[in-house]
Amino acid sequence: MTTEQPYPYLGRELVEPDWTRFPGWADVTTEQWESAQWQRAHCVKNLRQLRDVLGPGLDDRFVADLERDQAERATMSMLVPPQMLNTMVAHLSPSDPGFTEALYADGVRRYMLPVFTDRRTDWPSHPYATRDSLHEHDMWVAEGLTHRYPTKVLAELLPTCPQYCGHCTRMDLVGNSTPVVDKLKFDLKPVDRYDQMIDYLRRTPTVRDVVVSGGDVANMPFKNLEAFVARLLEIDNIRDIRLATKALMGLPQHWLQSEVRAGMERLATTARERGVQIAIHTHVNHAGSVTPLVARATRAMLDTGIRDVRNQGVLMEGVNADAHTLLDLCFALSDGAGILPYYFYMCDMIPFSEHWRVSVGKAQDLQHAIMGYLPGFATPRIVCDVPFVGKRWVHQLADYDREHGISYWTKNYRTSIERADALALERTYAYYDPIHTLPAEGQRWWHDHAADDTTRGHAAATAAARASREAAAVQAG
Ligand code: SF4
Repeated sequence: MTTEQPYPYLGRELVEPDWTRFPGWADVTTEQWESAQWQRAHCVKNLRQLRDVLGPGLDDRFVADLERDQAERATMSMLVPPQMLNTMVAHLSPSDPGFTEALYADGVRRYMLPVFTDRRTDWPSHPYATRDSLHEHDMWVAEGLTHRYPTKVLAELLPTCPQYCGHCTRMDLVGNSTPVVDKLKFDLKPVDRYDQMIDYLRRTPTVRDVVVSGGDVANMPFKNLEAFVARLLEIDNIRDIRLATKALMGLPQHWLQSEVRAGMERLATTARERGVQIAIHTHVNHAGSVTPLVARATRAMLDTGIRDVRNQGVLMEGVNADAHTLLDLCFALSDGAGILPYYFYMCDMIPFSEHWRVSVGKAQDLQHAIMGYLPGFATPRIVCDVPFVGKRWVHQLADYDREHGISYWTKNYRTSIERADALALERTYAYYDPIHTLPAEGQRWWHDHAADDTTRGHAAATAAARASREAAAVQAG
């Protein structure tokens, strides 16, 4: 019998892995490495560039595996900044024995450079997986402006990022088209979209909180981002502004640029004068990604006077879905970089994501396992983003059929497509566990019924959406 703590806490120093271990970067200086321009110019966008960086130590088997995934499975195109590639297999050079195996096993690699053999062959996609699994597009009140919750909106300012994550929940819109996914395109010019968003917010005083996102706001020319946020700051009802940028971790060099720091300081000063909170929300999934440069960029942002920097990671099998890895990440964020561990989202039901997704039951177990180690305010909540509902803490479900892997959820507000729907708050809405995690009987059931459209949860959710759209159309007409 062991009497040790399940998680042995040890404060750890952050480490910037040595990029010169990669043959393609053997001569790269610190000055080059810390330049945002150099990082952007040397992102890995294809197999040839990956080979050029990693050199002959990279196994052909891995390259073929990656190539097949790009052709047959990938919903996001390849885009990995040097800063992120450098955190993969940080302890080995490509010429060291075991490098390719370590690359296969690496948590950051598993979501930034997914390969064909990572994916499931039994159920690569859930039968109810969809491109826009959160139905954000259905809830647009202006192009790119999703109004799902009563008091807050999501403004998707641009459809690009400095890095593309294999599991991106906005794979419908974000990034370049892939052989598997033809991406949705915005119709309006950016300037017209932003005008329409601002106009909606001015005439909707019930909205107080804007998530300024994309994509990643680090891909917007800073003066344009500053101009948009400055317009938000002029709207009396807007009290919270959150800037979404994974680049704080993936390309911290961007946020360390003097013109970006000066601009953020101007925004933070105006926000403080007006009593508005500006925070940065970033997206870090693994402790190895939290390096001294990430800590420096975070410090630089906090020094501008913004309210906070918070992390919204994604819970993924093979990346971070165990209590030790999650706690290592939370302590690296909190102790090392001053980033608040805030949420872990369950990976959404997009196509080809089953190998990453975990069941709600496992997410509940993980939430239990990470309680009590961090201060309460820094203990992240694991949340399920339930289609047509929104974020729910994973213990908030109304019912759970574990055999078929269907959880049922309720809500306490109407989304923008349910304003005329009297029954929206009385329904239950379904979320589905990955089928390969179910007991044998449940897996058999899905095998026999996957083509049907008759599970009660799915039928309820679909009917709710249809009824809402019809009601909205009647009202608008
Ligand atoms: S940074 Fe965010 S929006 Fe961009 S690809 Fe990754 S998950 Fe998607």
